[in-house]
Amino acid sequence: MSNIVPPADADARRAIKPVICYPTETLPKPDIGLYQAAFEGAEKIDEVIIPARDAASIEVPAGHLLRIICPEGPQVGDLDLFNSGNLDERFYSGKTRALHGTHVSIGDQLWSSFPYMRPMATVMEDTLAWYGIDEYGGSVHDVIGTRCDPYTGRVLNGVDYHYCCHSNLTRALARARGLSLPEAEKYVHDVLNVFMCTGFTRDTGQYFMKASPVRPGDTLGLFAEIDLLAVQSACPGGDCSSEHSSDAAQCYPLKMEVYKPAAGSLEGWQSPAVNAYDGSHGC
Ligand SMILES: [Zn+2]
Repeated sequence: MSNIVPPADADARRAIKPVICYPTETLPKPDIGLYQAAFEGAEKIDEVIIPARDAASIEVPAGHLLRIICPEGPQVGDLDLFNSGNLDERFYSGKTRALHGTHVSIGDQLWSSFPYMRPMATVMEDTLAWYGIDEYGGSVHDVIGTRCDPYTGRVLNGVDYHYCCHSNLTRALARARGLSLPEAEKYVHDVLNVFMCTGFTRDTGQYFMKASPVRPGDTLGLFAEIDLLAVQSACPGGDCSSEHSSDAAQCYPLKMEVYKPAAGSLEGWQSPAVNAYDGSHGC
């Protein structure tokens, strides 16, 4: 870089104001008030504990609430979402990031992959919404990380670690759908990093993590816009204050709970249809 001479108008070029790539004003707005009212005193119909350094899955019917809970100690989760009836339709972290930003909270939606591209879930509860963006540029519940995985661990450190979120998610999906591990692995995708506190360093633009502010009792509530299979790993990084992809960090379990809405409480809500674009790409 040092031998590259800046042009005379370098400062003027840098000073140009950015524009938002995808203004979201035209997106259909989820009725968060309607969702929240539907689950006041709602009945819990299912739950699963995600053991520390492992993953588990749960079915969430459309119109139900998936509540992700930190029950014991600071712990982050790596969440994959699938259309329960079609594993090809799955969470699209990159498009969610492009639309809603690097981190999600109440009112943001989690979008599915092409060619379906519709909201799979809507964030309707977030007890960490107070955190905002800290002085390092860090925030909670990111859609920028991928998931800890044995391949990157091997490239960086030359070690194999089999309780990475990628491996945990693969095993849990294989169990849930009766797939072989190689079959299941193909469906595992970039996650929503639940409770994780991350950002990019200002000086080098590198992805960073820091101790999650999550404490026992904190929850992230996702309204299922379509029938979902939720698969989540309790990351071997624990609160991700130091390292992942090893047995070093203190780790805790997570919990997933499914709630049924009060009868007749979702009047006016409809499960979104798949994107009507016909895939002809203008040809
Ligand atoms: Zn992980």
